[in-house]
Amino acid sequence: MRLGVLASGSRGNAFAVEHDGVMIFIDAGLSGKVHASRLVDSGFSGINPQALFVSHEHSDHVKGAGVLSRKWGIPVFATEGTLSASRHRLGKIQEINVFPNGASFDFGAYSISAFSVAHDAADPSGYVIEWDSGRLGIATDLGQSSPLVKESLSGCTALVLEFNHDEDMLWEGNYPWSLKQRIASTTGHLSNQAAAELLGSVSHKNLEVCVLAHLSQENNLPSLAENALRKVAGESLKILTGMQDMALPALDLQGGRLH
Ligand SMILES: [Zn+2]
Ligand SMILES: [Zn+2]
Repeated sequence: MRLGVLASGSRGNAFAVEHDGVMIFIDAGLSGKVHASRLVDSGFSGINPQALFVSHEHSDHVKGAGVLSRKWGIPVFATEGTLSASRHRLGKIQEINVFPNGASFDFGAYSISAFSVAHDAADPSGYVIEWDSGRLGIATDLGQSSPLVKESLSGCTALVLEFNHDEDMLWEGNYPWSLKQRIASTTGHLSNQAAAELLGSVSHKNLEVCVLAHLSQENNLPSLAENALRKVAGESLKILTGMQDMALPALDLQGGRLH
């Protein structure tokens, strides 16, 4: 199983996973051209994706969805609320698959489940992708942690988790008060501290890697996010930070172990 963190942040989010020859995309917040080049940068070759799963309708997650679907001839999967709210951005899509949050289904080498998150979007989803030897949770726009989020992310061997902002940097920074309040609200974005608490509550000995995601470029620093996480994580947890302007090298998650 390989995970590609192609981009992460408020200007675009995109992930790819590949296992047993089946590649799927999660979120499409890049242009088609940049998405394709980031896949190559990440180390994927012979790219043959099978589907795109979208978390919610905000443009940093969906603006490239129509292009990706047409370019590779792949279906788009999302909740009814996300699809309705994204319709004007998608253009003509050949195959759309609607599922409710809470649904789980088998897809090629994976079992994929969607769970509801409390972000300010129509019906946003986090995803858990299970394969024969591991479990990856992706949750990047979380207004707050909840019992459902914790339950959904428990037992994951790898996590992509939002560490959006440092609370001091947010409140002391230059954003207008209305935006500061939106970000900090229970339907906005998770602070480093809230994300670390969430990770601490789902951490276990087989959790091998956490990718810090959706870091604010204005209100956070990778070192602050990592320090917050280190306080609750064991030394053996591998911590990586997703970047806005370049892809991370693909992570090999075989057997839940990072090689
Ligand atoms: Zn976002
Ligand atoms: Zn969002």
